[in-house]
Amino acid sequence: MAMKAMDFKRLNRVDLFRAVLRKGPAARAELASLLGVSLPTVATLVRELEALGLVESSGELPSTGGRKAAAVAPLPDARAAVGVDVTRNHLSMAAVNLRGELKGHERPHIKFEVSDGWSGRAGHMVRDFMERTGVTGDSCVGVGISLPGIISEDGATLQRSHLLDIRRHMRFTLPLGNGLPQRLFNDASAGCLTELWEAGEPGSFFFLSLSNSVGGALVIDGRLVTGANQRAGEVGHVTLRPDGERCYCGKDGHYDVYGSALNLADPAGGRLEDFFERAESGDRAFGRILSSYISSLALVSVNLRMLLDCDVVLGGYVGGFLGPHLARIRAKAAAMDTFQGNAGYIRLSRRKMEGAAVGAALHFIEEFIQGV
Ligand SMILES: [Zn+2]
Repeated sequence: MAMKAMDFKRLNRVDLFRAVLRKGPAARAELASLLGVSLPTVATLVRELEALGLVESSGELPSTGGRKAAAVAPLPDARAAVGVDVTRNHLSMAAVNLRGELKGHERPHIKFEVSDGWSGRAGHMVRDFMERTGVTGDSCVGVGISLPGIISEDGATLQRSHLLDIRRHMRFTLPLGNGLPQRLFNDASAGCLTELWEAGEPGSFFFLSLSNSVGGALVIDGRLVTGANQRAGEVGHVTLRPDGERCYCGKDGHYDVYGSALNLADPAGGRLEDFFERAESGDRAFGRILSSYISSLALVSVNLRMLLDCDVVLGGYVGGFLGPHLARIRAKAAAMDTFQGNAGYIRLSRRKMEGAAVGAALHFIEEFIQGV
């Protein structure tokens, strides 16, 4: 069916808004040529976005010809979204604006349990956080909640989480008392949404989430592939060593046993920073732990490459520390590769911190931008 004129106009408005958000203050003429529309069309769209309080005419930009060009600037803080990453012992909270910039993040300690008490306390923490970061009422477009478990397709039900000890389907919301839309995300998928946003262009990659549990998410041509049962990418439960140690799920030798961040954090008293500092300053015992961690990671990465033939992005808590070790991970993976002598396809996640909380928030930002 042919698109109606209104649809074209809305698409133009979305494109223009995206371009202004991306570029910062931009000349109207530049926007017109970028979008392939006339200057009067740009003027109309800018007026509409101004009326929505999303951009402002910012006077003039210096232009190369010496004359000043009329410019448009975004108002990125006109809206914001909040993401909450729930783990066994913490609540990571992040607020982001329309450009995906972090307005604030906090990670208070709170031990998870299925109880009204936990819900009440967690809801309180999120409300206080929103107040402190100035994200309230009309300016917030939604609250995304990231969980280490399987989430229903509609984002309303937590179907299962070994880590949170939930084995039955459970509606999951935070009592925020503000009527804002909420949506649940698997933690690895949420981290992956951050990577997708930062990449800026549709591509294909596998996002390997190396946090206290291991997860993964697959993006093909810019779209998250969730699978028939919302379990695509559950690489933590791929069997790496059939006779290996027991996974928290009850089966033996799964990759989670070798890839969990706890392998590194626990020997260092719980802090990954301390682990890497000691491993990198020549501590032999820590060096051996890191070597073994890297070997498993390289093995999983090359297997993912054989199956999917796309980039493998290292994210999660551990991903943020792997920069100095990337060459070694790549060398080990390349040694197992049938088709190529290098493993440049293994790369680091662009966002080093709070990827899951940020990604859960970015879902709502993206939805808002698409709907302007
Ligand atoms: Zn398992």
